[in-house]
Amino acid sequence: MTAIGIDLGTTNSCVAVYRNNRVEIIANDQGSRVTPSWISFTDSQKLVGEAAKEEASMNCENTLFQIKRLIGRKFNDPTVQEDMKLWGFRIVEVGDRPKLQVTYKDEVKTFFPEEISAMVLTELKEAAEAYMGEKITDAVITVPAYFNDAQRTATRDAGRIAGLNVLSMINEPTAAAIAYGLDNKSNEERTVLIFDLGGGTFDVTIATIEEQIFDVKATGGNTHLGGEDFDYRMVDHFVEEFGDKHGVDMSTNKRAVSRLRVACEAAKRKLSVSTSAKIQLDGLFMGLDFRSNISQAKFEAMNADLFDSTLTAVKTVLSDAKVNKNQIDDIVLVGGSTRIPKIRKLLQDFFEGKEICRKINPDEAVAYGAAALAKNISSGGSEVKERFQLLDVTPLSIGTDVGVSDMFVVIPRNTKIPTRMTQNFITSADNQTALSFKVYEGERPCIHDNHHLGTFVLRGITPAPRGVASVQSVFEIDRSGILIVTAYDPKSGSENKIKITNDEKLMAKDEIEKMIAAAEKFRIEDVEWKEKSAAKNELEDLVYKIKQIVQKDTTSVSPGDQEKILQKSQAAMDWVKAYKKIESQSIRQRTNELKDVLNRMHEISTD
Ligand code: ADP
Ligand code: MG
Repeated sequence: MTAIGIDLGTTNSCVAVYRNNRVEIIANDQGSRVTPSWISFTDSQKLVGEAAKEEASMNCENTLFQIKRLIGRKFNDPTVQEDMKLWGFRIVEVGDRPKLQVTYKDEVKTFFPEEISAMVLTELKEAAEAYMGEKITDAVITVPAYFNDAQRTATRDAGRIAGLNVLSMINEPTAAAIAYGLDNKSNEERTVLIFDLGGGTFDVTIATIEEQIFDVKATGGNTHLGGEDFDYRMVDHFVEEFGDKHGVDMSTNKRAVSRLRVACEAAKRKLSVSTSAKIQLDGLFMGLDFRSNISQAKFEAMNADLFDSTLTAVKTVLSDAKVNKNQIDDIVLVGGSTRIPKIRKLLQDFFEGKEICRKINPDEAVAYGAAALAKNISSGGSEVKERFQLLDVTPLSIGTDVGVSDMFVVIPRNTKIPTRMTQNFITSADNQTALSFKVYEGERPCIHDNHHLGTFVLRGITPAPRGVASVQSVFEIDRSGILIVTAYDPKSGSENKIKITNDEKLMAKDEIEKMIAAAEKFRIEDVEWKEKSAAKNELEDLVYKIKQIVQKDTTSVSPGDQEKILQKSQAAMDWVKAYKKIESQSIRQRTNELKDVLNRMHEISTD
């Protein structure tokens, strides 16, 4: 069975497949090799990709994007709260999680971020199915290296909702390293720095590649830094300028801000190849037009701190990998934002003029590597000509609480995965029969500054004096970077082994099943909608043809018949206006009736 590789990006997604001994990037039905990770809901249908993006300024409340910034986060996460201010769509709190609220087919609906990401994944899966001419379920999905456990789990859930069997999840820079390695077949060991700056996330990774062994030395970055942050800086700048010019604050008008954001993104891209860019928006707010321009220097100045912070991450990763900057053989750029000249310059200056590798396409490298890995896994590593082995690392330290608030690290960050570590806990009271401990991820010494993953409670411990009974816990991280913690009491037998009960992280099984069912319902609705739209087109086409025939052929058809068929055509057109409520079958029936009338008329006229 064919397995695909998917780069599920914050801004854009890409799908690829390995066949005939090479990776092929799969174009979507519009012929584009990347698909915007956008979903839009209208009164009649659900749009994905470019079509959804085009809806943004008309229908900003129901057009969703950057959903990867929400995935695996809680509603009250400060980054969620910040993002919400900038988005034109609504987020509501359900449980403690964010849900997206939209109006779809005149009904208010809410979706978890996983469900929206699943819609993007479904689109890519279907593009791959159309390309390969077969059903596809196996996939490797990429995630930013810096994604935490909850974000990874949520991404895997999105895959399941889309009907995918997620073979593995792989870090985006690691996937890019594979793409680089498959392209540069040298037998000598090379140390590569992968710098991936996309729309919403930033990853830096150092890996060594030797004879198809990809050994990730260290990884770091920021899950909340990317091109969109640069856009928002420009938005803020122009909102202020608009205020200064007109004495009004347009920032509260989501539609105006959304239009401005789209224009700023375009201006930013222009500034990658030009020293200035224009903004022109008619009737932006309160009927006022907006015209302005921005120079490359101004753009660089307003983002200087963000640009500089990318180098801070590079330094940390170099030090984590214990690699000196002049030991880096190649710098590989990934992600659309690495086209910004200033970013390239900063990097080049830091690496003392080193050339940047331009061989691989920054938009496709991640999907490329994922597809190669998908093939590697699905064929048991035997069929891929360039067989390779992957040694990845975990991006965040995992630990538990000891004492009052100290973080006790069980698995340090940048440990090779998969990994398995054990940890003993001893009772602190006589005859204690239950023991609880918390699991955290993060690098801060004070545990409360880290991210709480879950609380463990083990009951049924054999009573014993304090400090004598112990509980053994096993911390395991699988190949996809997902953590599983189990604990048991060796005295009372291994039967007490339990998995982490982590409501904050894991979605209940039945909840996922509900989402899978909902996704299937939407998929069927989409198919029906397409069918209906085709039926409606056919009817409209026929009515148009009838009008033409009647106009041209005034001699053979009697005026009475002409009148009759034109009336019938008009009636059919009036009827189909209420289209949303009509089934495609009824439209086809009506079309056939009209065809019959036309045929009979022709028979009479040719008799
Ligand atoms: P992601 O991996 O987050 O989905 P991409 O790698 O596709 O993102 O990068 C998308 C980001 O790159 C967007 O913020 C987009 O504005 C930015 N981008 C794309 N092309 C350019 C360019 N020529 N100059 C500057 N930024 C660009
Ligand atoms: Mg990306």
